[in-house]
Formats: sequence, structure tokens, C-alpha cells
Amino acid sequence: MKNTLSIFLSCFLFVVFNGISQLAQTETQRTYVLKLKASDSFQRTMIANTGAAIDFINSDYVIATAVLEEKNKLEKMGLILEDLTSRTMQSMTFPSEDSEYHDYSELTKALQDLHSEFPQITELKSAGRSIEGREIWAFMVRGEQDPNKELPQALFMGGHHAREHLSVDTPLRLLKWLLAEYKKGNRKVIDLVNSREIHMIPAVNPDGLEYDISTNKYKMWRKNRKQNHDGTYGVDLNRNYGFGWGTGGSSKNPNSDTYMGTSPFSEPESKAIKNYVESLKKIKILLSYHTFSSLILYPWGHLDNKIPNQKDHQTFVKMAETMAQWTGYTPQQSAELYIASGDTCDWAYGEHGIFAFTFELDPRDQWSGGGFYPGDEILDSVVAKNTEPFLYLIGLADNPHRALDFGIGF
Ligand SMILES: [Zn+2]
Repeated sequence: MKNTLSIFLSCFLFVVFNGISQLAQTETQRTYVLKLKASDSFQRTMIANTGAAIDFINSDYVIATAVLEEKNKLEKMGLILEDLTSRTMQSMTFPSEDSEYHDYSELTKALQDLHSEFPQITELKSAGRSIEGREIWAFMVRGEQDPNKELPQALFMGGHHAREHLSVDTPLRLLKWLLAEYKKGNRKVIDLVNSREIHMIPAVNPDGLEYDISTNKYKMWRKNRKQNHDGTYGVDLNRNYGFGWGTGGSSKNPNSDTYMGTSPFSEPESKAIKNYVESLKKIKILLSYHTFSSLILYPWGHLDNKIPNQKDHQTFVKMAETMAQWTGYTPQQSAELYIASGDTCDWAYGEHGIFAFTFELDPRDQWSGGGFYPGDEILDSVVAKNTEPFLYLIGLADNPHRALDFGIGF
């Protein structure tokens, strides 16, 4: 009896203490959505340097997500115009109405089905495993049957950030569209498929994707699911790449939404992308889909300066402006928003000379468009406006400088 009681008591106390420490942890790890005063890139960089993640930019304010410590810093700086946290949380319900989006098992099945339907011209393999052991799927389309013939390569990626589900489903739908058009006999698509190698990694951060939808409410989760040394979770994969890593606009605080990790490529997900890109010997084009804000971004992100190679810079600008015509997105150098270091595109261009773009897909803003959670009814229109840029990038994979030879709208 005594033993049973003491076991009962110690279990009870364990549960209570555990509950208290979890509550404390939950409070420090809680994410706040803040409207902050900022009217130029200098002020936005000051905000980014606190570790807060800027999600939306207007002419005189930004919307950012921050953990408690960052919120306190911003408060001291006198920048908080409004705490929007409760407003944002209210609009999050379980996505039964968002069933068009793919969770990880649906994504896996969709890719397997596509490969079974087009076994001759596609390949499905794993680029590596996430922290929690999920395969990071890489899908390849290649019409040319001679394996010795080297073809120009383009890589499209989505889902670096967990809550950006649209960035997973957009490339997936583009892939489905491409193969359906190939089957239908679309001449332009057939020519591209036969003369290029098209690579796609739609979900770079599968653990985060699953975590964000694992309960009846979206969690507004951004990072991967690494357990950090202090018990907090997650590294910002788009601050973990190894070019200019840790030089601003990312955080050393493991609890922060923009935590850079302990070293460049410390995360299995970013390491997998590094290895995958470096296995492609003819890659000249990379596009990393994110959400939201309707932007087309090119390097640098970690420096205000233009990239030093003038011809490359002109090419980036020309390509971004051309793709802006189809999408209605705003083209600009990434650092014009705010400094952010350790992202995919700075590394891909800085280390390998790849013409690497970030698309911040729809919506343009948080309040009229739903921010990170715009609903699945947006998918058709986003995919439609992103189809031409997709084909354009694949077309230029042999030599992106050719973009300079065409008028905007090629
Ligand atoms: Zn993102």
C-alpha cells in the first residue's frame, strides 16, 4: 500500500512538474505575430537582427513572427505597433477545407504514382533523411534515354519552411501538369523534357510539414524539428546554408524562428540539398519556392551590394523582370527586403554560380489573402501564373545568359 502510494505520488508529482516545465517552455517558445514600425531596409534589417522572422513588408510597417525574447527586444526598441497574435490564431482551424494540400504520406504516394505512370522518363529517389527519419523525396524528369548524354539541369524546391504548404503543392502540381502535357503531346513540353533534366524536391522539410498539421490547428511552425541543446526545437533551414552563414538577419538563439543552427549545414535536410545539388554536374538553374508576399528574389540576401559579376547581375534582373510579367510578383534583390544570411540562393550562386531564385508565392499580404494559410482555393491560380516561369527556367538551363538576348516576356 505504502509502495503503491509513493509510486502514485511520485507519478503525480512527475506529471505536475513536467506539466509546469512544459508550460514554462511553451511560454518562451510561443510565437507572436507582430505589426512593427519599419519604413526602409535599414529598419527592417534591425528587426531581422533581433531574430524575428519578417513575413510581410509594407511601405511603413512589417508583419513579423517572434518568440518572447525577440518580442521583448522589439518592445524596448519601441517598434511594436500592434500584437496580432490572437487575431492570427483565431483564423487557424483544421484544414478539412484545405484537403487539396498534400501531407507527407499523400505527397509520397503522389510521387510514387507519377513515377509508375511515367517509368521511362522519371526517377524517384531519396535525397536524404530528415531528423525524424523521413525521406526527402527527389523526383527527376528526363526524356533522353541515353544515360551517358549529359543534359542541362534545373532544380525546383519547396517546403523549406513548415507552414508554407503552398510552396510544396505548387511545384508538385507543376510537375503533374508537365507530365500530363507531355502525355497529351504538347510540343514545347516534349522538347523541354527531351533536352533537359528537371529535378524537383517539393518538401525539403517533411518533419516540419507534418508537425505543422499534426493537430486540429495549424501551428505556424517554420523550422525543422531538431531538438536543440537547450531543449527548444528547430533550426531555420533557410538560414543554415554555408555561404555568408551567420552574417546577419539570422539568430544564434535556438528558440528563435530564424535560428541559424550550430554550424553551416548542421541539419540533415540542408546537408541533403547540398549533396544533391553537388551531385548535379550541369545545374545552372535553381528555384526555391516559399510563401508569401508575391515576390521574385535574387542574390544577394546577406549583403546589400549587388553581386560583383555584372553580366550575371543583368541576367538575374532580366530573368526576374520577365517572370514578374507572368506572375504579377515584384522582382528585387533579396537584401532590399532585409538582410538574411545562410539562405539557399546565396549559397547556390555564391558557391556554384547557379542562377538561383526565391519565389515568395501568393498571397501578397496577410489580411486579404490569408498569409501562410490562404486556403486550397488559391492553388489553381497560383499554379497557372507560375507555369510560364517554370518552363522559362527549364528552357534557360543550358545557358541562363541567353535571357539577355530576348525581350521581356520571352
Ligand atoms: Zn519561407
